[in-house]
Amino acid sequence: MNEIRETVILGSGCAGLTAAIYTARAGLKPLVLEGHEPGGQLSITTLVENFPGWPEGIQGPELIDNMKKQAQRFGATFELAHLISVDLSKRPIELRTSAGEFATRTLIIASGASARWLGLPSEQALIGHGVSSCATCDGFFFRGKEIAVVGGGDSAMEEALFLTRFASKVTLLHRSERFRASKIMMERAIAHPNIELRTNSVVEEVLGVADKEVKGLRLRDVKTGVIDDLPLDGLFLGIGHEPNAKMFAGQMDLDNDGYIKTEHNVFTTHKGEPIPGVFACGDVQDRRYRQAITAAGSGCMAALEVEKFLEEHGR
Ligand code: NDP
Repeated sequence: MNEIRETVILGSGCAGLTAAIYTARAGLKPLVLEGHEPGGQLSITTLVENFPGWPEGIQGPELIDNMKKQAQRFGATFELAHLISVDLSKRPIELRTSAGEFATRTLIIASGASARWLGLPSEQALIGHGVSSCATCDGFFFRGKEIAVVGGGDSAMEEALFLTRFASKVTLLHRSERFRASKIMMERAIAHPNIELRTNSVVEEVLGVADKEVKGLRLRDVKTGVIDDLPLDGLFLGIGHEPNAKMFAGQMDLDNDGYIKTEHNVFTTHKGEPIPGVFACGDVQDRRYRQAITAAGSGCMAALEVEKFLEEHGR
């Protein structure tokens, strides 16, 4: 760990890669630690149709690959490594990672959020083939089809309502009769003629693995134990996201759900007061928008903040 870097970026999704392009072009020679899920959530998406500049859409992995090449072209370097620990009270900041130790003057945290999945092998096998955790990204592909949404919180209600724009029928599956969703969202969903609510139901298996497309769901009623198959074309998970910020607990302010608290449009992290040189961008600090383009935009803003910080503190 002899070199002290100007900046290290944690995460290689849209936010991290955009921060890498900007900091590389500013001559800061960023090091990107790619993290547990290189490429982030886009790397497990299929067609992305809402990223400006791609009128026909672009495959998520290709978009990510392009961004990485763009960052490399300007001098960003990449390590297939994840963070083990960091002490944000020290300067330079010392990072212990799976690929060794690094010291840096500034840190951009772009570690993202991971959608929660049910964890069934059949679900994992069909991600991108009818199973999705993002209605905004993939809803369009289910025009005129029958689908299900799992969850009982606001995300599930919002996804179910959004998906009625495309799907002919949406079955909302929840594992109990108690809902976390707000009353208004709940009422809207239940009142919708194309949404059918099914409580006390858990997914035992997603059917269609052999055909590589969702054919239905095997459901179990948790009260009666009865198992039945529901034929349909798609499954959306609306059971929440986990921000990848656990490793910063105690070192910076996180909100009740574990998202990093940042200042609006500034991306400075705080522990009571601003933590000098430590910025966060993308989904790890955004529970609201969670889009590829907003993550990219915030990555750009965090990079500009790093540049400004280093100029003010002498490069
Ligand atoms: P929540 O934690 O509120 O809800 C998650 C839901 O998923 C719960 O009903 C939970 O069930 C269920 N669930 C969790 N794990 C599983 C599992 N393994 N199998 C089956 N069901 C499961 O998450 P949300 O993403 O819905 O919301 C997060 C926050 O974001 C909330 O504060 C919400 O209000 C906010 N939000 C606001 C929106 C808006 O205002 N437009 C839109 C979306 C989110 P159980 O209750 O049984 O644990």
